[in-house]
Amino acid sequence: MIRATSIQPLGWLLATSFAVILPLRALAAEAVPSFSKATLAHAETIRLDAPENNHAMKILESLTTEVGPRLAGGPNDARAVAWAKAKFTELGFDQVWLEPVSFPTWQRGVETAEVLSPYPQPLSITALGNSIATPIDGLTANIIEFATLADLEAATKADVTGKIVFINKAMSAHIDGADYGPTVGARSRGASAAAKLGAVGLLIRSIGTDHNRLAHTGYNGYEDGVEKIPAAALSVPDAILLSNMLKRSKPVSVKMNLGSGPGPEYTSYNVIGQINAKRKTNKYVLIGGHLDSWDLGTGAIDDGAGCAVTMAAAEYIARKKLPIEHNIRVVLFANEEQGLFGGNQYRDAHKGDVKNIIAAAESDFGQGPVYALNSRVKPEALPLVQQMQKAMSGLNIQAGHNDGNGGPDLIALGAEGVALFGLALDGTDYFDLHHTANDTFDKVEAKRLNQTATSFAMFAFLAANAPSGFGSGESYLVEKAKSTKH
Ligand SMILES: [Zn+2]
Repeated sequence: MIRATSIQPLGWLLATSFAVILPLRALAAEAVPSFSKATLAHAETIRLDAPENNHAMKILESLTTEVGPRLAGGPNDARAVAWAKAKFTELGFDQVWLEPVSFPTWQRGVETAEVLSPYPQPLSITALGNSIATPIDGLTANIIEFATLADLEAATKADVTGKIVFINKAMSAHIDGADYGPTVGARSRGASAAAKLGAVGLLIRSIGTDHNRLAHTGYNGYEDGVEKIPAAALSVPDAILLSNMLKRSKPVSVKMNLGSGPGPEYTSYNVIGQINAKRKTNKYVLIGGHLDSWDLGTGAIDDGAGCAVTMAAAEYIARKKLPIEHNIRVVLFANEEQGLFGGNQYRDAHKGDVKNIIAAAESDFGQGPVYALNSRVKPEALPLVQQMQKAMSGLNIQAGHNDGNGGPDLIALGAEGVALFGLALDGTDYFDLHHTANDTFDKVEAKRLNQTATSFAMFAFLAANAPSGFGSGESYLVEKAKSTKH
């Protein structure tokens, strides 16, 4: 049973619109959990001050300049880990530590493609992550185009055998990235779907919303027991070019040359920094992003931004000496991009911690701003979520839904029943840059990143001072996780 506590003076309750809406008798009967007046006042100071006085831009500039691309297990992986450990320490976190994460690696090599006939010209491509190499002299075959992955799956072996499959599905821009799910299957499952029908290679239209002549990389998963074929993405302009050639009803022959392939097993680290509450407690609020990136840009929006805003949020709370009842832990996850290895390792290492994780939220959808507060909490905690959203409404954050998923690295923890929050980031232009050479620091706008850092600071501060739990470890959330889409 949740009760309003003595830190909730009645006089203040009466002064709020909340109390005006609910008759006093109902309040006493329902015992609605409420943040204290002091906590809400501190949250308001964060809202007003943090946009100007947080270090997110500085941290992101430092990461992208001093480390740059951070392919998991690649040449900069160890430098990224060392950077993160040193940065947490420099920022004054109370505890900083590493937890090992092991995974297979992948290496990019040469990546070229050209139309040989009927209209010879070069194409701009990039290998999909995990792709095998072509033969050393390249792979030459005729192209067969499909509008979607589903169309490919409905094709026959007679049509596809011996050809390079080209999936040409365009992606549209939405604030919540709604078209990513329906489009990304071409990248994640296209190679095996094509190989099952006898294809020798895969080219996809980049999973992106821009028209730059830069291809978008990203993970390609090979199905067990299916032959592996080389897979690459064409830039959007090159996909349109290739499609225009195919409309002329002559066979189009393409040569692609990829030098990519598997590397050795590697051990990286989740890098963790914690701000401790004054009184000793094992309970903590978890925020974070993933430290790895793809290798074409410098990983500014994916996901340097998520690392920077969550580090800056916790650092701000500590620097301003804002009182917290529970610890705030920032986790920079290893190797999200090639299979959620860091998130899964964290779940394995902290299974016994589930009840101690008050709430968790990852930032992994670009620079923001945050436009809605989603959650996945027990119903009794929804009044607290409403109060948090109300406190954040001055940042233009709307009320969200209670089917949030918290971010990719929190899928595993969520399945264990950890209460999750989704600070929904405006992703309208995210897929212009995502996984491209254009994912660089100059694209980041201070106003947007500062709003996001402020949102995470308000969230972490409020959650760390919540008067009652959000349901972590309770069977309700374990069951709810099963019915939540990712
Ligand atoms: Zn990401």
